[in-house]
Amino acid sequence: MALKFEVLGKFNRARAARLTLPHFICQTPLFMPVGTQGTIKGLTNNQLEEIGCQIILGNTYHLALRPGAELIDDLGGLHKFMNWKRALLTDSGGFQMVSLLHLADITEQGVTFQSPVDGKPMLLTPEESIQIQNKIGADIIMALDDVVKTTITGPRIEEAMYRTLRWIDRCIAAHKRPDAQNLFGIVQGGLDPVLRDICVRGLVDRNLPGYAIGGLAGGEDKDSFWRVVAQCTAALPEDKPRYVMGVGYPLDIVVCSALGADMYDCVYPTRTARFGTALVPEGVLRLKNQAMANDERPIDSTCTCMVCRNYTRAYLHCLVTKDAMGSQLVSYHNLSYMMRLSKDLHTSLVEGQFPEFVRGFLRAQFPKGNVPEWVCNAMEVAGVDISTCCAPITS
Ligand SMILES: [Zn+2]
Repeated sequence: MALKFEVLGKFNRARAARLTLPHFICQTPLFMPVGTQGTIKGLTNNQLEEIGCQIILGNTYHLALRPGAELIDDLGGLHKFMNWKRALLTDSGGFQMVSLLHLADITEQGVTFQSPVDGKPMLLTPEESIQIQNKIGADIIMALDDVVKTTITGPRIEEAMYRTLRWIDRCIAAHKRPDAQNLFGIVQGGLDPVLRDICVRGLVDRNLPGYAIGGLAGGEDKDSFWRVVAQCTAALPEDKPRYVMGVGYPLDIVVCSALGADMYDCVYPTRTARFGTALVPEGVLRLKNQAMANDERPIDSTCTCMVCRNYTRAYLHCLVTKDAMGSQLVSYHNLSYMMRLSKDLHTSLVEGQFPEFVRGFLRAQFPKGNVPEWVCNAMEVAGVDISTCCAPITS
């Protein structure tokens, strides 16, 4: 095990922790920007450090295609290759294949796919995924799992869950650098509580350095989503990090943190920036909107980021979706927003102000008191009283 997880503050299930990884000491809850090719589109490493980014997610599939795991290894690993001194996490590559390539097929051996380079059939096995990730050298590496959409029902969900458990043993056996890289297992099982339970127990038995909750953020309804998170966080060990994959929106992160999750990743803040949408305490600000054309205010007057200190909404209105600089500046602000949200969650837990923070967040997002029902249900299970944020029911 190459990590240390120390809880510094708690409120019921929610926790703030110090996560010591080989390359960096992180504070949780934390958000990981997704750097497909080892870069966050349009942002420099210095800028990422400046906004408080602690860990970046690299996509193994993309890195293995270009520049290739061998080359990264020869050049001293991904940290050195991209000159990033803080923490890195790589995914297994399986999800990218299944989601990007129509011709991917999953068998007991691994994920078969057609090479996008020369069209030849290729196979990614659990062993190979780990070998590639060992070469890339990230602080956290992910097990290859059998991914199915949560909206699928029937025996395929059960098959995928049991296969994920069989594959974790192949991943553990293949992992050559457990003293320098932390292998996380991924809980699968769709929306079925019985299958999720079998998978959590199976993974916990393997005593891994950390655990991820997978197979979510795939179009399931929000009530099903938070219930899976709540079930898994309750069953996972207290002294290991819990990572909800592919999540999410700021509201999802606040809810999952209340339920005891620690780590998140999502392309949303940078993807939405490219369409001119900025994240603000009230929700989102659409910079393309005509009302922004002569608005001299910054994106968010409570934000101290470089973009909010220097540029007006009117200026950004001109740039977004037309000039690369537009999406870079909005990405910078949006990631700053996510980093500030993570930090505020951490601080509020350490200082014993977590319920107050959650209520303040919800009041800003839902000033009319129209907090979605799934949020109310989740907060009840999390033991966070948000009654003062919700409008009285009038019927
Ligand atoms: Zn800002």
